[in-house]
Amino acid sequence: MLNATLIKREDITPELFILSVEPDGGVTDFIPGQYVALGLPGSAPRVAGSGEDEKELRPDRLVKRAYSIGSSPRQKDALEFYVALVNEGSLTPRLAALAPGDRLFAAPKVVGTFTCSDVSDDQSLVLVSTGTGLAPYISMVRTPELWTAGRSVTILHGVRYRADLGYRDELLQLQEERPEFSYFATVSREDPFEDVRRGYVQEFLKDGTVRTDPEKDHVFVCGNPAMIEDVEESMIKKGYVTNSKKNPEGSLHLEKYW
Ligand SMILES: Cc1cc2nc3c(=O)[nH]c(=O)nc-3n(C[C@H](O)[C@H](O)[C@H](O)COP(=O)(O)OP(=O)(O)OC[C@H]3O[C@@H](n4cnc5c(N)ncnc54)[C@H](O)[C@@H]3O)c2cc1C
Repeated sequence: MLNATLIKREDITPELFILSVEPDGGVTDFIPGQYVALGLPGSAPRVAGSGEDEKELRPDRLVKRAYSIGSSPRQKDALEFYVALVNEGSLTPRLAALAPGDRLFAAPKVVGTFTCSDVSDDQSLVLVSTGTGLAPYISMVRTPELWTAGRSVTILHGVRYRADLGYRDELLQLQEERPEFSYFATVSREDPFEDVRRGYVQEFLKDGTVRTDPEKDHVFVCGNPAMIEDVEESMIKKGYVTNSKKNPEGSLHLEKYW
C-alpha cells in the first residue's frame, strides 16, 4: 500500500513544508503543472497540536489528496511537493508528522491539465497563486522548455505573512538571471516590506501593474477558490475565455485547491 519514501523535508513555517518523495518505481514522466495523489493510512499519527479527526478514520484505509508537483520533470530522484497544514484536515496533519525515511503512498499515475502544453511558444505566461498554489509554477520555471524565445513569464504570489513566501529566494534569483521573468508578491496580514505589497494578489491584475492581453498571454490561476473566482470574473471582463474540455483554446487556466 505504501510505495514511496520521504527523503527530505524543509519546514518553511510550522504550517508550510516542502516534501521530497521518492517513489519506489522511480519518477515517471510528467508535464509541469500536473499533480499526483499522496496518501497515508488512518492509523498514521497526526502532528502534535492538530487535534483529533472530526470523524474516525479506518486505520487500514488510505486517506488520499491531490498535490501539485513542484519539481521539474528533469529531476529524476524525487518528486517535490509544497504542502500547507490544514489543522482540521485529515491528511495534512499526518503528512506534517512525517520524518525522512518514513513511508507514504504516491499514486503512480500523474494527472492534470493545468499545463502549458497547448500554449504556443510566442505567448507569454502570467502565473497567479496564493499559498501553496505556487507549486505548479515552480515546476514550470525549473523546466528549461518553458523558456522559449520572446516569451515573458510573470509569477504573482499572495500569502498572509512574510514568512509564508516560500521559494522567494529562488524566485528573486531567477529574476536576477532572466530579464524576461518577473516576480510580484503580496502579504495580506502584515506590513509591506522590500518590494512586497500589502493586499491581495489579484490587485496586481486589477490595477494594471501586470498587464494581460487574451491574444498574447495565457493566465494561470491556482490556489484559494475565492481568489480564483475573483480573478476569473475580472479576466472574463477583459475578454479571456476559461480553458476547459469544451473550450480548449481558452487562455485562462484555473486550478482550485479546495
Ligand atoms: C489539483 C489539486 C492540487 C492540489 N495541490 C496542492 C498542493 O500542491 N499543496 C497543498 O497544500 N494542497 C494542494 N491541494 C489541496 C489538497 O488536495 C488538500 O485538499 C489539502 O492538503 C487539505 O487536505 P486535508 O486532508 O488535510 O484536509 P481535508 O480534510 O480534505 O479538508 C478540510 C477542509 O479544509 C479546507 N481546505 C483544504 N485545503 C485548504 C488549504 N490549503 N487552506 C485552507 N483550507 C483548506 C477545505 O474547505 C476542506 O473542506 C490540491 C488540490 C487539488 C484539487
